[in-house]
Amino acid sequence: MFSELVKVNGYLVQAFSICRRQVWLLARGVTAEQSNESLALGRLVDQNSYARERHQVGFGDNKFDFVQGADGELVVCEVKKSSRAERSARLQLAHYLYDLQKAGIEARGVLMFPTEKKRVEVELTDALKAELDCVYAEIESLAQRNVPPPAEHCKYCGKCAYAEYCWG
Ligand code: SF4
Repeated sequence: MFSELVKVNGYLVQAFSICRRQVWLLARGVTAEQSNESLALGRLVDQNSYARERHQVGFGDNKFDFVQGADGELVVCEVKKSSRAERSARLQLAHYLYDLQKAGIEARGVLMFPTEKKRVEVELTDALKAELDCVYAEIESLAQRNVPPPAEHCKYCGKCAYAEYCWG
């Protein structure tokens, strides 16, 4: 039995709507292949987009891509290389807003897809908070399993940094 409490961060929340096996690997601290092309492309998009903003802001167990502030309003921005996994990215950003709210900080979120010139506003609704509460409980339960869920091929496997743990 895994005895540590899982530190739920944005990566885990994002992985949750993509692949339960990936959640287990992440929660157990299994490191992804850092030379994975998809990760490298993501880093490149991060580094070359919105250079004037405040990048990589740590908050609790999370790391926001960047934040903007204007007229007393805080905006948390998450940069993605494509909108292919927009739903999971939305949940990740909502998790950041929820963590901030729990600390008494109200903010809104923006998902940014610079290569597609697309922006999506994310507002923390009650429905999203309820969904996140369920996600946290399921992540904790997944992490307590002694073995990972079996690998099931999905549309994300081809570019997944954990592919060698599933199909290698
Ligand atoms: S390779 Fe596929 S099954 Fe394995 S962790 Fe990645 S997305 Fe999940």
